Amino acid sequence: MARREMRWFGWGDPAHVSHGLPDGALELLRARVGLADVPQPPFPASAIRLPAAVEFDIPGVELRTDHEARLLRSAGKSYPDLVRMRAGALETAPDAVAVPLLADDVRAVLGAGVAVVPFGGGTSVVGGVEALRGEHPAVVSLDLGRLDRLLSVDARSRVAVFEPGIQLPAAEAALNAQGFTLGHFPQSYEYATVGGCVATRSAGQASTGYGRIDAMVVGLDVATPAGDVHLPAVPASAAGPDLRELFVGSEGVLGVLTRVALRVRPLPAERRYEGFMFGSFDQGCNALRALEQEGAAPHVARLSDESETEVTFAMAGREGVAADLAARYLRARRVERGCLAIVGWEGTLDGVEDARAASVSVLRRHGAVGLGRSPGRAWSRGRFDGPYLRDDLLERGVMAETLETATTWSNLGVLYGAVGDALRRHAPVVMCHVSHLYETGASLYFTFIARQREGEEIQQWREAKAAACDAIVAAGGTITHHHAVGRDHAPWLHHETSQPGVAALRAVKAELDPEGIMNPGKLLATGGTVP
Ligand SMILES: Cc1cc2nc3c(=O)[nH]c(=O)nc-3n(C[C@H](O)[C@H](O)[C@H](O)COP(=O)(O)OP(=O)(O)OC[C@H]3O[C@@H](n4cnc5c(N)ncnc54)[C@H](O)[C@@H]3O)c2cc1C
Repeated sequence: MARREMRWFGWGDPAHVSHGLPDGALELLRARVGLADVPQPPFPASAIRLPAAVEFDIPGVELRTDHEARLLRSAGKSYPDLVRMRAGALETAPDAVAVPLLADDVRAVLGAGVAVVPFGGGTSVVGGVEALRGEHPAVVSLDLGRLDRLLSVDARSRVAVFEPGIQLPAAEAALNAQGFTLGHFPQSYEYATVGGCVATRSAGQASTGYGRIDAMVVGLDVATPAGDVHLPAVPASAAGPDLRELFVGSEGVLGVLTRVALRVRPLPAERRYEGFMFGSFDQGCNALRALEQEGAAPHVARLSDESETEVTFAMAGREGVAADLAARYLRARRVERGCLAIVGWEGTLDGVEDARAASVSVLRRHGAVGLGRSPGRAWSRGRFDGPYLRDDLLERGVMAETLETATTWSNLGVLYGAVGDALRRHAPVVMCHVSHLYETGASLYFTFIARQREGEEIQQWREAKAAACDAIVAAGGTITHHHAVGRDHAPWLHHETSQPGVAALRAVKAELDPEGIMNPGKLLATGGTVP
């Protein structure tokens, strides 16, 4: 399948036509945030000046040095990436882009004496693909997009082996044709690659049911500057510390994942998503905890707080059936604001029926009121559209950024309060949802929205991001539940691993990557501020 084209200045399909923000959302934004009077289009791509390229050659490997190739691999898709792209103010770009066709080409690139930045779908939101040279004379972006095959499916063992650069829709289509699914649907699904997901420990919208990508990895092949590492596909092992765990989430700093063996599941015959309403976020969290701990967890479970629920209904338009039902629910309980949950089950027809009955009984016991299938359908239809809205907001001079964390159930309320308070000092609209459930805790996904400070957009973001990260570590959350560390979270990593833990990771890097060519400045970077 051909690689999907991506808008250079924002998210997604270049042919996507924006229908703008719905009236309800515009009204809310005007009142609470403010909007630029005149839309601000991006700087034209051809007029962007990239840093001068250092020339080099890698025998036997195709290198692209044209403006478009370098521009498209110069950044990921974080808010600061998009601000810089739209303003035409790029500080870094790869000197060349290598497009390997074989694992041997990857090895040749690792031997070229230049810094190497593995590039999957380029959807990193933490600065993971930024082309930093480190101490090296030049930097090459290693675009894995042509290593894009499903290599085998062992149906009996339910194991599929992929090349790293296959994008998730292509991986899913190839598996579906053989009666299987990966069940991995991050919001970046349309562009993210299997290798990129494994390299960042990503989580999908149905990861409560299918597990995160790290739970699916059974085997790996990694090309490192010190040589190849082959970790066979085995269901479990007691052969010392598990090296798979070392490479899953290694973000390209130890080597390049060249093959990935993942556990797959039978393709579901039925997918059913429904809406439920709770009187408060706390009540909803208790219900989700009960679902997980009583063995009635669905595949999809997302609980929006009051603020996100309000915005969701504003986006849907007041005339929606669900919004009506929700309004009736709130009136009956004499509360002003409630919390919407989307709950979904996947599997065989009977399996979905049984699982749904078990979940609904727990939800009702915890005060949930069913809104039926229409909010579930609306969520499913729009589940990958959110990132386009971010571009619409940027055009109207609005910062819209997300961040995510996780903690134990006992600490969830504390973390929710601390991060929300920190962000509200920087943004008038802060909203949150629980997106992934575990027996011991859950993740929290925050969105914050503010009018951009003109000319200081990056500094404004830095201040909000640093405040949120400080609040996360102080309140005992993980610095990232699924976006990974990259450049942006590196200053906070030691809070989670301790300094000797960071030193141990550095020692492993020194062994596998003695010259430090692999993805400089990511994951293990030093320094104490957001870059
Ligand atoms: C709109 C949007 C929504 C998102 N939603 C989610 C979500 O729901 N869940 C989630 O988990 N994440 C999400 N993300 C973050 C991002 O999509 C994930 O981190 C994803 O896993 C990255 O995959 P990719 O192929 O694009 O990797 P890239 O962005 O290309 O690379 C990510 C990192 O992995 C390294 N890398 C890539 N391929 C390899 C390889 N083969 N070997 C070694 N290193 C490699 C890169 O050097 C980089 O450090 C979202 C991002 C955006 C922009």
